[in-house]
Amino acid sequence: MASPGASSGRSTDRFTTLKGPSSTVETACPLDCPDACSLAVTVHHGRVVKIDGSFKNPVTEGFICAKVRKFGDRVYGPDRLLYPGIRKGRKGEGRFKRATWDEALELIVARFLAAKDKAGSASILPFSYGGSNGLLTQDNLDAQLWRRFGASRLARTVCAAPTSTANQALYGKMPSVTYEDYIHAKLIVLWGVNPSASGIHLVPYVREAQKRGAKLIVIDPRSTPLARSADLHLPVRPGTDVAIALALHRYLFDNGHVDARFIGEHTRGADRLRERAEPWTIARAAETAGIAADTLEQCAELYARSSPALIRCGWGLERNRNGGNAAMAVMALPAIGGKFGVRGGGYSMSNSASWGIDRTWIGAEEPPTRLVNMNHLGRALTEYDDPPVNVLFVYNANPAVTVPDQRRIIRGLEREDLFTIVFEQVMTDTALYADVVLPATTFLEGYDFARAYGPINIELARPVIDAAGEARSNADVFGELCTRLGLLTEREPSGELDLLVRVLDSLPGVVGRDLRAGARPEPPFGTAPIQFVDVFPNTPDRKVDLFPADLESTAPLGLYRFQPDPATTQHPLTLISPASERTISSTLGELPRPDVKLLMHPVDAEARGLAQGDLVRVFNDLGEVQCTLAVAPSIRPGTVSLPKGLWRRSTRNGLTGTALVPDALTDLGAGACFNDARVQVASLATA
Ligand code: SF4
Repeated sequence: MASPGASSGRSTDRFTTLKGPSSTVETACPLDCPDACSLAVTVHHGRVVKIDGSFKNPVTEGFICAKVRKFGDRVYGPDRLLYPGIRKGRKGEGRFKRATWDEALELIVARFLAAKDKAGSASILPFSYGGSNGLLTQDNLDAQLWRRFGASRLARTVCAAPTSTANQALYGKMPSVTYEDYIHAKLIVLWGVNPSASGIHLVPYVREAQKRGAKLIVIDPRSTPLARSADLHLPVRPGTDVAIALALHRYLFDNGHVDARFIGEHTRGADRLRERAEPWTIARAAETAGIAADTLEQCAELYARSSPALIRCGWGLERNRNGGNAAMAVMALPAIGGKFGVRGGGYSMSNSASWGIDRTWIGAEEPPTRLVNMNHLGRALTEYDDPPVNVLFVYNANPAVTVPDQRRIIRGLEREDLFTIVFEQVMTDTALYADVVLPATTFLEGYDFARAYGPINIELARPVIDAAGEARSNADVFGELCTRLGLLTEREPSGELDLLVRVLDSLPGVVGRDLRAGARPEPPFGTAPIQFVDVFPNTPDRKVDLFPADLESTAPLGLYRFQPDPATTQHPLTLISPASERTISSTLGELPRPDVKLLMHPVDAEARGLAQGDLVRVFNDLGEVQCTLAVAPSIRPGTVSLPKGLWRRSTRNGLTGTALVPDALTDLGAGACFNDARVQVASLATA
C-alpha cells in the first residue's frame, strides 16, 4: 500500500533542548479514558524512548496502562501519516500521492465552497469523536469552523449518551464519588464496568477497600478480573440491567429500606418510580436477567443494609435498547436507599462536568442546521437526500470500525460522488477511503488539556517531541481552514498557542492560573466531594428528579420500562463488544496483536459442535465476522464477546463486530445499541 507514510524529514526544531542526550518531560494523557494520567516521558535525542506514569497526579501514582506505554509504536509506526496526500487509487485502496499542505487545504476549501453552492452548507458533515478528549483538539476551532460555515451538526452519541442523559436528568450531572473515596465504602457495586481494562487506576482503590473489609458486587455478563474476587457476581443477560435495578428499588420499598426523610427533602417523583418498579419482583427480574433469584436477593439485602454503599455506574449497561432507563434506575438507587451524605457513599459516573467548563471559546452559536446522529452515519451517507452528504470531514474518529452497521458505512464511503477528508495520526480503516488525508499530531507533539472523568483532575499536556513529518495540530489546521474560508477576523486566535492562551483565560475560577503555574487546580468543592454534603444536584430546585417528565415522553415505552430481547431463533446469541486491554476505543488498533478470538461459553460451543481454536463465522442479517473461537466459562451462556475497537485487519474477512450491530437507538439519549447485536455462530469449515 502506497500511503503518505514515508518520512519527509521535516522538523520544526522546537525541542533542540531535548535532543541530547536524554530528558524526562512531564505531560498528561488526554485520550478517551476516565483517568487522565500524569505522564513522565523520556526523550532521547528528540525521540520518545519511554512513556511512564508520573507522581504529579496522586491517582496516577507512577503507573499507567500498557496501551499508552506503547504509544511510541503509533508515533513511529509504519501506519503513521507524515504528510498530506490526495487519492490516486480506488476508494479503500489507500493509495495517495503526496501533496503540500497548501495544495490539500486549497482543494478542501474549493470542495467546501462547491458543495455549498450545489446543495447548501449542510451537505458537509463533520464527523468526530473521542480520539482525543483534550480541550484544544475537540470542540474548539473545529466547532467554530462548522458553526460559522453552517455544516450539518453531529449528535455525538456513540458512547455515554444514555448515561449522560440520565445523569443530567436525575442530578444535573452533580459531581460524583471519585476514586480516592472508594476506600471508605463498605459496599462497592461495579455495574457494567471493567476497570481492569479501562480506567485501571480504579482497581487499586477497589482492592484497598476490599482489604479494609468492603464487600464487592460485580454486575457484568463476563467474569471480569474483579468479578472473580467479588463477594457476589451477577452475570446478567445484556439489556436486562433495568429489570435488576427496578427489582432492587422494589426490594428497598417493600422491606422498609427507603430513606423517607431524604426522599421528602431531596427528591421528587419517588412515587412514580415506585409504581414502575412494582412489577419487578426479585423472581421476575432474576428470570429476565437469567440469574439465580437468591443471588439477586442477596445483592438487594447487601445493598439495603450497607453504608457507605457506592455504585459505580459503567457504560456497559447503556449499550442496548433499555440503556437509558437502566442508567436512570441504577443511578436512582442511592436516592431511594439513603446512601448519600457520607464519604464513600452514593454513585460514581462521569465527573467531566465538575469543572463547569462551558466552552465559551468556541465563539459562535450552533446554527439551526440538520442534526445527524452519528450512529446513523451509514444511513446519512447512503440515504439522506435533503441535502445529501456530499462532503465528509472525519477527525478524532475512525467510523469505519467504531460505529454500528459497518457494511452500510463502507458502502457510503465507497460513493464516488462523496468527497471525504480524513485528518488523522495514522492510516485508519476510514482514512483508506479518503480523497484527502491530512496528518495530525499526537498528544506527545502538541499542547492540550487532559480532563479526567473518573477522578476530578485537569492537567496541561505539553509537547515533548517535534511533530513527526508534516503533522499539524487540530488547532492549526482548523484555524487555517477558518482563515481560508474567511470565517475568522484577524484578531481572533487561529493557531495552537493562541488557542492555548484563550482556553487558559476562559477556564472557570483560578483553574487557568493554576495550570499556568504548574499547580494542580481544584474546584471549589475539592477533588473528593461528598454528595449531598459538599455538592448537590444541579437541577433547577437542587432536588433529584426521579421522574423527569420530558424523558417520560421521549422513551418509547416511558420511564423505567423494559423492552424485550430482540433475539430470534435464527440469531439467538447476544454479541457484546467490551473494552479490552489493547485499545482505547479503536486507538492503537493498528498495532500487531494476537489472533482475535470470539469468546463463547462451553455450553454454547458444545451445542454447536464447536471447540477451542475453531475458525468460526459470527453472523446475522447485517453481516459476518470470521475469526477464531475461544471457549471458556468466563462469559455467561447465550452471550458471546468480541473486543471493542478492532480494526479490519484483525479478523479473517475484514469485518469487525460493528458489522453485526444494528443502528437502532437507545430508549434515552439516542445512543448506540452495540449489545443488541443478535448473532449465530457456526464453524467456518462447515460453511
Ligand atoms: S489511557 Fe488512561 S490509563 Fe492509559 S495513560 Fe491514558 S489516562 Fe492513563
